[in-house]
Amino acid sequence: MCTTCNGTGGLTIEHSWGAQFLPCPSSDCDYDREQAIREEKEAIKRFRSEIYARQFQEGAV
Ligand SMILES: [Zn+2]
Repeated sequence: MCTTCNGTGGLTIEHSWGAQFLPCPSSDCDYDREQAIREEKEAIKRFRSEIYARQFQEGAV
């Protein structure tokens, strides 16, 4: 696992005005950004279909 970002793909830097997320600066970083994006899209898709299913059920009652 990448020790620079601890496998999170980036660093969160605290400022007085808030937190800033920086992509991992390490060239040895093994974080799989594509995989993370794919998983996020899948999660959104699942979330949407759950909402649709719920609306459908409510409409049917
Ligand atoms: Zn990293």
